[in-house]
Amino acid sequence: MGVVTFLSVGVRFEANVEALNMVEVSGNYARHRRVPYVITEGGRLKVVYVPAVSGESIAHGYQVALAEEAKALGLPVCSYCSIGEFLKSMDEEHAAEKFDGKVPKLSGRSKKEELVSVVGEIESGIVRKCVVEDVGGFLYAGNPPVKRTSRFMVSYALPIKSVATYATLEPQLHARHARTAGERREGAAEQMIYYVETGTAVYGFTFNLDFAGVGVSSYSGRALVDDVKKRRLAAARALYRVLSSQGFGAKLSRFLPGGGAVAMVATLTERPFTVTSPIYDGFAESTRERLERVKATFGEKGYYFEMGKDGLKTPEDVLSAVIETLKKEGTI
Ligand SMILES: [Zn+2]
Repeated sequence: MGVVTFLSVGVRFEANVEALNMVEVSGNYARHRRVPYVITEGGRLKVVYVPAVSGESIAHGYQVALAEEAKALGLPVCSYCSIGEFLKSMDEEHAAEKFDGKVPKLSGRSKKEELVSVVGEIESGIVRKCVVEDVGGFLYAGNPPVKRTSRFMVSYALPIKSVATYATLEPQLHARHARTAGERREGAAEQMIYYVETGTAVYGFTFNLDFAGVGVSSYSGRALVDDVKKRRLAAARALYRVLSSQGFGAKLSRFLPGGGAVAMVATLTERPFTVTSPIYDGFAESTRERLERVKATFGEKGYYFEMGKDGLKTPEDVLSAVIETLKKEGTI
């Protein structure tokens, strides 16, 4: 048997009066993201529009945590990722700091071997200098273009199916005040009113992390760094941090949601395996059964963790158990 390198986590969290993902502002009205959602009602399929939080929004929160954890462990993070601006190495200008200003380029009449070697040089240069781009991927649109696929995947957070019709969106009135009336400029209003749509639901989302790809080339499959285990540890700790602090979503300064994680399952496997989506009732049971089947079929190792079982009372218990197991297995 090999080592477990694939982590999948399913989370259900209750969020009351949140503005985690706003999509547009029209005049003084800020709209919450909403998505079409198929539910079964009275034996019939029906589409309803429900509040949602995009995977991009959760991924942003995760990468902010990843930058912090990487720096805390003494690992390299580039200047943009350090401040939460995940433009990544999207062009020559943003890739420059990884190469002391000289990003490798193709010469005028390039051959295939040159292309392969320059692409490899660019990927390895960026990965070595930034853990966020190592784990979260990037798309360099220069000459030649280089793409690194993200080593983590995250779903939208969607209201759980059984109570999706109770998910609500409601605009709330707010006011911003100008300074005292006496000092105000001609024509300026004393206060400005605006509306923010808030959502309330029990949401579910899935997060996968493929440790096997951390620090490894997308093109050659070869290791690009010698601190792979430390980078994997940073990636695992970032997930712990972001789930423990609910550190994702917009407008947290005034719309920090009421609620928290109400259910969590996690699996560690040798090859990719995704937990059953937490939007379905019975997702924990289903995950365990599926995992047992995969283990039996492929003769592989697999670990299962569930909040509320085996002494794992809190989300932190689950995530600590995951990290302990990864250490025991020698993955991190
Ligand atoms: Zn970076």
